[in-house]
Amino acid sequence: MPSPPLVLCLSGLDPSGGAGLQADIESIAALGGHALGVVTALTAQDTSNVARVVATDPALLEQQLDLLLRDSPPQAFKLGLLGGAEQLPVILAALRRCPVPVVCDPVLRAGGGTLLHNEAAAQTLRRELFAAVTVLTPNAAEARRLCPGSATLDDCGASLLAAGCGHVLITGGDEPGAKVVNTWYAPGQPPRRYTWPRLPETFHGAGCTLASAIAVLLARGLPVEAALLQAQKWTQQALQRAIRVGQGRRIPGRVPGRSA
Ligand code: PLP
Repeated sequence: MPSPPLVLCLSGLDPSGGAGLQADIESIAALGGHALGVVTALTAQDTSNVARVVATDPALLEQQLDLLLRDSPPQAFKLGLLGGAEQLPVILAALRRCPVPVVCDPVLRAGGGTLLHNEAAAQTLRRELFAAVTVLTPNAAEARRLCPGSATLDDCGASLLAAGCGHVLITGGDEPGAKVVNTWYAPGQPPRRYTWPRLPETFHGAGCTLASAIAVLLARGLPVEAALLQAQKWTQQALQRAIRVGQGRRIPGRVPGRSA
């Protein structure tokens, strides 16, 4: 086992530094790991919304993954924004080659409203990727879009397990209510709910922060239950320390010692 544990991130690059690969790198470093960063897409965006997404050439991804998996095989993968169906065969081959936990944040729509994947792309992810996923972390809106036939969020959780995910954590930050309720679904166990105080604003990059925290804790060898709880606690603290870098939403304060 190398020191520190390695998490291979396949994520979009957000130049504002709030979401995407920078969120992954900061979270993984803060929790004791090292991020290997493969950019699936360049984006043009600010702290309010995404304006443009340009996918990385799958042949370049393949070369990057090949070199990394030879030199620095990770202890976990973290998948964020992906650059379309053409990238999936290369990504699936990498996951098969290195059988470690995979945390997938199925980024379908930016917090500012821009659609990042259409319905067909969402169903392709579900059909082709989810059987390789250890922990899927959709927010409530993403869970509903991935499961158009499901009436309730609990039905969505069951449906995502049926699609092959090992575990599902549906986050409720985008739902109404005085508290944020996140729900963990695993085969053969009743849904487990975690309740967090609702902070008086929404953030840019909260989902990426939580998913990469889960990934690094799994890379460190924690069981899923402990990783889910510790990652949620740490993300809640990062949201409480959020920093302002632009005119839109604040971003989680992931870097220890940096003043708000
Ligand atoms: N850009 C990238 C590269 C992302 O990965 C994400 C979300 O995961 C976003 C933008 C949107 O982030 P948010 O919805 O928190 O604004």
